[in-house]
Amino acid sequence: MKVLLINPPNHGRSIPEEEYGITSIKAIFKGEPLALEVIAGNLYDHDVMILDLKVDPLSILMETVNRFQPDIVGITSVTCEADALIDIATTIKRELSGDAPIVVAGGHHASCDPDYFNIESIDYIVCGVGKASFRTLINAIEKQCPVSIPGVAKTDPSTRLDLTPRKYTFEDLVDHRPPRYDLVERYRDTYVMGGIGKAGFVVTAYGCVHACSFCSIPAITQGSYLTHSIAASIANMKTLDSVSLIRCVDANTFGNIPFANKFARAIIESKVNKKIVADVRADTVVNHPEVIDLWQQAGLVAVVIGFEEIDDRRLAFFNKKSSVQTNIKALDHLKKTGLKVIGDFIISPDYDRRDFKALETFIDTHDIELPVPSILTPIPGTPLYRHMKDKIEITDLSYYTFSNAVTETTLGKAEFYTLYADLFKKFHSHISKS
Ligand code: SF4
Repeated sequence: MKVLLINPPNHGRSIPEEEYGITSIKAIFKGEPLALEVIAGNLYDHDVMILDLKVDPLSILMETVNRFQPDIVGITSVTCEADALIDIATTIKRELSGDAPIVVAGGHHASCDPDYFNIESIDYIVCGVGKASFRTLINAIEKQCPVSIPGVAKTDPSTRLDLTPRKYTFEDLVDHRPPRYDLVERYRDTYVMGGIGKAGFVVTAYGCVHACSFCSIPAITQGSYLTHSIAASIANMKTLDSVSLIRCVDANTFGNIPFANKFARAIIESKVNKKIVADVRADTVVNHPEVIDLWQQAGLVAVVIGFEEIDDRRLAFFNKKSSVQTNIKALDHLKKTGLKVIGDFIISPDYDRRDFKALETFIDTHDIELPVPSILTPIPGTPLYRHMKDKIEITDLSYYTFSNAVTETTLGKAEFYTLYADLFKKFHSHISKS
């Protein structure tokens, strides 16, 4: 089968820009479409192409489809790109009508809110980790033998989706089939990330056992934490020989401490010799500083930490199961190591002037090199969405970029965005120092 996998273009819209002329905080998602490379890795006996519309212009979509003539088109998306996914699917179905390929939606938004894609121009929806289930689907389509696949739904806009939940296991990672990095090699020089530089992506683990209310990660594995084998992850790091920096794109690279220790030792012994950036929870740094130190010997140069808040009440509301004191202790340890800290913070819609000032002071006091502030966004399918549903004012998902307030705000919107933009300006000076 010929399978075309598509990464949609940046589609996010910006209220600060559209309504207040503030251009400094538009969110742009960059980086290689690793999820598609992973899916392609398990389609080893099919003819697969990846089209990255974050790099290539959207105008080449139909030219590419007409030239490649896929039997199947798979499109991924995060929430703010969900409508871009639908636009692409609709364009392909409309332009090719009777000869149109089968269109499959997957990715984060499909996993969190599959009903959103139960529309005419999409044929199937793959939820969660799809490396194994997408292959099962393709093979069933090829053999024209309809099967019920857990985690995969056939669309039918006239009724509710019939989706059998999938219990995800190590088998779903198809560990022995590496991502098809070669399929995006022509784009590689463009995969440069702000504050990090040119990086290759490696996924070593999927999912998370925590349940922060705003987070869409647990939906990808239904709350389990699955790690690739150490050998497979090290092989992937080595395959990326044109980059010196590896971004582990796991939501939590240190979710299993004995494994993380073994993994670091293996990286050192295998002489991977790359710089590594990875996500870690603050409580992991505090409770297991030795694992961070070992990873530093293995090449870790920067950590991404979701501090989220400087107020325990809000951390509890997020179900973060951590505290401001833990965040400060983690920062103290990281300062000693010299690791670069990329710190995520969430600005809640009830922020007032004092809250903005307090956050700015906290970041200054703790000298966080790369603070990344985002606006609390209730992503459909998350516990936060269910909690905030009644307060949502904007339902157009193109605004769900984490830099727009889609709910009521305590401050007037103009003042809220001005203070948010001021924080950004201040943080940009942090970035230029780094
Ligand atoms: S924010 Fe991090 S720790 Fe919380 S559920 Fe998501 S991945 Fe897990």
